[in-house]
Amino acid sequence: MSRSGSKRGKESEVARLRMSRRVRELPPYLFAEIDRKIAEMRSRGVDVIDFGIGDPDLPTPPHIVERLCREAGEPENHRYPSYQGMPLFREAAASWFSRRFGVPLDPDREVLALIGSKEGIAHLPMAFLDDGDLALVPDPAYPVYRAATLLCGGVPAEVPLREESGYLPDLSAIPEETWRRAKLFFLNYPNNPTAAVADPAFFEEAVHYARKYGVVLAHDLAYSEIAYDGYKAPSILEIPGAKELAVEFHSLSKTYNMTGWRIGFAAGGEEIIGAFGKVKTNIDSGVFNAVQLAAVTALEGPQDCVRDNCEVYRHRRDILVEGLLSIGWDVPLPRATLYVWMRVPEGYDSEGFTRDLLEKAEVVVAPGSAYGSQGEGYVRFSLTLPDRRLEEGVERIKRAFSRHSRLP
Ligand SMILES: *Cc1c(COP(=O)(O)O)cnc(C)c1O
Repeated sequence: MSRSGSKRGKESEVARLRMSRRVRELPPYLFAEIDRKIAEMRSRGVDVIDFGIGDPDLPTPPHIVERLCREAGEPENHRYPSYQGMPLFREAAASWFSRRFGVPLDPDREVLALIGSKEGIAHLPMAFLDDGDLALVPDPAYPVYRAATLLCGGVPAEVPLREESGYLPDLSAIPEETWRRAKLFFLNYPNNPTAAVADPAFFEEAVHYARKYGVVLAHDLAYSEIAYDGYKAPSILEIPGAKELAVEFHSLSKTYNMTGWRIGFAAGGEEIIGAFGKVKTNIDSGVFNAVQLAAVTALEGPQDCVRDNCEVYRHRRDILVEGLLSIGWDVPLPRATLYVWMRVPEGYDSEGFTRDLLEKAEVVVAPGSAYGSQGEGYVRFSLTLPDRRLEEGVERIKRAFSRHSRLP
């Protein structure tokens, strides 16, 4: 290019940034519109109650915080951690796993520390997808499965989760050709956003298909411990032979109110964990040792904090569900997760109902359509706000909508 000051030359000096196709193809942040509206209302002094976010409001139990503080002062913890995670952490994860699910894991070969399970989920596709390879992604779903597939050049193939099938994918309805092309299949039970649960028979069927077509099952079990009324979520690794083709994501975030700490782990067979670890050694340098040691305390220490937590959420769930039922809305009682997933009343779509809740009751929910096209017609309420706020929110909804729903 000429630098002589010609028009062409000047133009070339202000060349526009060109984002990668992968970044351009990522969908925009779906809560942007709602977030703007909330900010605008709050700036006018409106006291908005937020049922939209899935981040526990309760603090991390003190014995875990104390361990972090102690370990943070130890100089040997200040250096780079090991890539796979400290042996102590991997051993604690493996023994927790075997106590909880009755499945032994080799802490050296079948466990990998993660910087939160989201990090692991986002990097897993790099180990299994080449350009143009298919990943089966449920719809609706936690948005990371689809985004991670796109970011590594893969192609997401949406698998609908329908209310009439208990939000489990119909595996026999997936075309043979799609099964053959697929390399990865993301699953998540207990499920965000639908709060659905899966029984071992479903996982058995998934393992059967995965083996037949050579598909890796990536099961996100972030809500394994957030369950009610005696429900206990199973692990996909309980299915005989599953380890060779499944990897499971575990997180301390929801179980111990540790979302800000960034720690979780992947569990699976040696081959999958090996390939996944190879990706990660090239990207990150592990989790701060002090956080890993605090996580050991979480996994091996007293577990009444987990029971107490579930009791708090169960109480909130009951208040919310009873309140919504009293308006005449159709709300299922979830057996797990931090969410209540509800079909919007007659005559609304997800966004319209979300907007009306915000304008009439000053309450925020997540529109189901933000989780995929199949989420259209639903909204998600989170149980992650203090009891008083939750109760106040339910009262406002009742006040604003009981009247409305009685109109002819
Ligand atoms: C909260 C959540 C996670 C956990 O994320 P971390 O990165 O471990 O904090 C993973 N999957 C789903 C579906 C979630 O809702």
